[in-house]
Amino acid sequence: MDASAREIYDVVGIGFGPSNLSLAIALEEHEANVEARPVRAAFFERQPSFGWHRNMLLPSATMQISFLKDLVTFRNPVSKYSFIAYLHAADRLVQFVNNQTFFPTRQEFHQYLEWVESGLSDRVSYDSEVVAIRKAAGTGAGEPECLEIEVRDGDRGRTHVRARNVAISTGLVPRMPAGVRRDDRVWHSSEFLEKYGRVDPNDLKSVAVVGAGQSAAEITRFLHDSLPHARVFAVVPSYGYSVADDTPFANQVFDPSAVDDYYSGTEQTREAFWRYHRNTNYSVVDDEIIRDLHQRSYDEDVRNDRRLHFLNLTRVDDVRRTGTEIRVGLRSLIDRETRALDVDALVFATGYDAMRPTNLLGDLDRHCLRDTAGRHRAERDYRLVTTPELSCGIYLQGGTEHTHGLTSSLLSNVAIRSGEIADSIIRRRAEDPEHRPAASLGTARRTA
Ligand SMILES: Cc1cc2nc3c(=O)[nH]c(=O)nc-3n(C[C@H](O)[C@H](O)[C@H](O)COP(=O)(O)OP(=O)(O)OC[C@H]3O[C@@H](n4cnc5c(N)ncnc54)[C@H](O)[C@@H]3O)c2cc1C
Repeated sequence: MDASAREIYDVVGIGFGPSNLSLAIALEEHEANVEARPVRAAFFERQPSFGWHRNMLLPSATMQISFLKDLVTFRNPVSKYSFIAYLHAADRLVQFVNNQTFFPTRQEFHQYLEWVESGLSDRVSYDSEVVAIRKAAGTGAGEPECLEIEVRDGDRGRTHVRARNVAISTGLVPRMPAGVRRDDRVWHSSEFLEKYGRVDPNDLKSVAVVGAGQSAAEITRFLHDSLPHARVFAVVPSYGYSVADDTPFANQVFDPSAVDDYYSGTEQTREAFWRYHRNTNYSVVDDEIIRDLHQRSYDEDVRNDRRLHFLNLTRVDDVRRTGTEIRVGLRSLIDRETRALDVDALVFATGYDAMRPTNLLGDLDRHCLRDTAGRHRAERDYRLVTTPELSCGIYLQGGTEHTHGLTSSLLSNVAIRSGEIADSIIRRRAEDPEHRPAASLGTARRTA
């Protein structure tokens, strides 16, 4: 074991998407991160380089939150990592203001995230998938209990690091209908641009998109634009797309204070939150895209030249493959009639499930307490409630929708959420008599 094996990080972050990027900044900017007692953090990301939903960076797709809900501003409006600081560095601040929008494109927001990441790249390892977390065996005399994090290091094998805390921010999990397998022509929206890029567009004469949410509508529009020779089918389980409510009062459910109301509320309060406010985020579409798609459909009617088809109140029963052909079994929810649709590519924009830490936790999960519905209990600071036998912290960014509400996996509250986690890690460190002072906030160093 070389010197780096003895390193015990204050926190190891798993995944380096916006949530842990924001946490890295919150730790760096924390007032207790001083030279005499620096905060030690390391992050591991399984992608080969930074990327935020790259396969959905469709041209002109815009953010669904204000640019002021960037990685830092709500926590620290004078941070050097704000979206405004990025615009200034990119020499676009004036033109952005002239553009008069709160909602930059996702491509521009991605550039912002990459710009932030370039200032923090010394503490992240790419091509590094965390495969397990366990209690570290045999910490030395005088050393605190710690966790051992096992990392699959590209094709270089496995390495291990030790930490007092982990912050699991591995993101949403793509959801496919039961029994449907993805392949080179059957895609989930999370892999859309990559898979689409591998197909000759001339081979796509008929395509279908399944789903009623923002990604479904965006992909339908993209295919209608990009494949002017193709028939485009939108298979929508509802009567049509529903609008995302982003009016001011409805938007308050994304406020930092809404997390307190949700967290301290009764089961009935939480249930009411979801019932009344799902339409701010789930299975809803921006007004502009709905109107645009409807206009296209209407124009085709006027020209009597229809190639954009909306199959409303329709569900996919099954998908059969023969060679490059795809036969989709459809069922109408009106009369239960079934029909077959042959397409050359099929996109399931069927959403995501919440982050699930269970696989990563393995045996450690038995120390994590659950509520009566079998869900992980979490403290207000996003730390899992554990048995007294485990003194290390397991923090979640995502997967706490049942305790912290709608914003758990969203960017809306990322600055405050990651700030609260940073505060908690550092406050608990100060209160922890076991904790020895360590070297510096710096690069991940690992042992084989
Ligand atoms: C197309 C799309 C657009 C969206 N737009 C918005 C929006 O406008 N506003 C909003 O509030 N929310 C939006 N969301 C919601 C989304 O959850 C957030 O934008 C954001 O991605 C959350 O950041 P995250 O870091 O928690 O998760 P992610 O961005 O998903 O990042 C998780 C990271 O963890 C990595 N990872 C996973 N497992 C491991 C492992 N075992 N080891 C190492 N690394 C791992 C992944 O590779 C990934 O990079 C959007 C979601 C999608 C799909």
